Amino acid sequence: MSDVMHNFELYQPDSVQGAADLLGEFEDAWIIAGAKDSLGWFKDRVKQPSVVVDIGGIAELSGIEETEDGGLYIGATTTLTDVVENPLVSERFPVLSLSASKVASPQIRNAGTIGGNISQDTRCVYYRSGFPCYRAEGNTCYANTPTAMNRDHALFEVSRCVAVTPSDTAPAMVALDASMVIRRKGEDIEVPASEYFIGPEIDITRMTALEHGDILLGIRIPGTWASARHYFEKAADRNTWDFALVSITMVAKMAGNAIEDAAMVCGGVQCTPRRLTEVEDVIRGEVPGPEVETLVRRVASRGAQPLNFNHFKIPLMESLAARAVRSLT
Ligand SMILES: Cc1cc2nc3c(=O)[nH]c(=O)nc-3n(C[C@H](O)[C@H](O)[C@H](O)COP(=O)(O)OP(=O)(O)OC[C@H]3O[C@@H](n4cnc5c(N)ncnc54)[C@H](O)[C@@H]3O)c2cc1C
Repeated sequence: MSDVMHNFELYQPDSVQGAADLLGEFEDAWIIAGAKDSLGWFKDRVKQPSVVVDIGGIAELSGIEETEDGGLYIGATTTLTDVVENPLVSERFPVLSLSASKVASPQIRNAGTIGGNISQDTRCVYYRSGFPCYRAEGNTCYANTPTAMNRDHALFEVSRCVAVTPSDTAPAMVALDASMVIRRKGEDIEVPASEYFIGPEIDITRMTALEHGDILLGIRIPGTWASARHYFEKAADRNTWDFALVSITMVAKMAGNAIEDAAMVCGGVQCTPRRLTEVEDVIRGEVPGPEVETLVRRVASRGAQPLNFNHFKIPLMESLAARAVRSLT
């Protein structure tokens, strides 16, 4: 049950360097930006860092700029509302504004940041409730038992942990070939989205490539898919305030009536956004229509290994992929 938060020391640096110094000084320092994921952990008293570094007030981390290649650079602490309302984002990369607009509620989008959204932790009910599972450095998975509540969990790439990515905007980052700019030990490095999101086989205790002390500075989206055809759809139990059961993100370029190229990514089905490369191969060069949709349904969920209560995600995933392709007709 949610409770009063534990005591911690709160620091509010006004520069990236100041934040980096604090993270270097305190071993268990925890970054908050909008804090909409973090405060849940604290109120449940499952995570109790003694030092919290609030980077929400660092001006240099916020804002959206055009880049020379027709893309955008989005500061990590830019709020989801600012991403949704920014005309450059909605003109060039509507799939990002659409997916950001489906996160939680207006209040959460007003405070929650794009960097926090793609770096948030999983929502597995057992892990979030403090069960000592593999992800929490214990020795079992409570969600992968015959009677476990696992309708929200993974269909693919399970490696001890069956938790899924909860982020609505993470699939857009993969589809758009974005890269994450990270300050690590005084240097700025760029990590492609395809490597930013990590599965349990790489590190079961983390969802992203961020290591302790790292600060996500911003997200670079190249112009590659600017103003192409974009599609986003999220299926959830409720229309608002709810995480995706499955989501689909697609960007596509047309040559006349045919699909010249496409990237399709599914959320909610594995620990990382799942790129549907088989679907992309099937639709490339084809004129979208009922026959192509049938093929898409056949390959979209190939390799899925459902748990006891998440079989429904398979037809859902297939339908969402087919609907994305139908949007191109
Ligand atoms: C009721 C409710 C409903 C929600 N529904 C949805 C939903 O439908 N879809 C969805 O996608 N999300 C949802 N969320 C999750 C989350 O609140 C939002 O995604 C929000 O965008 C998180 O951003 P934040 O800045 O508030 O995160 P924070 O809590 O500040 O940060 C999240 C994590 O990222 C790390 N972090 C943040 N910024 C940086 C940075 N710059 N550098 C390094 N590390 C960083 C933090 O240390 C923390 O671990 C929901 C949350 C709640 C409480």
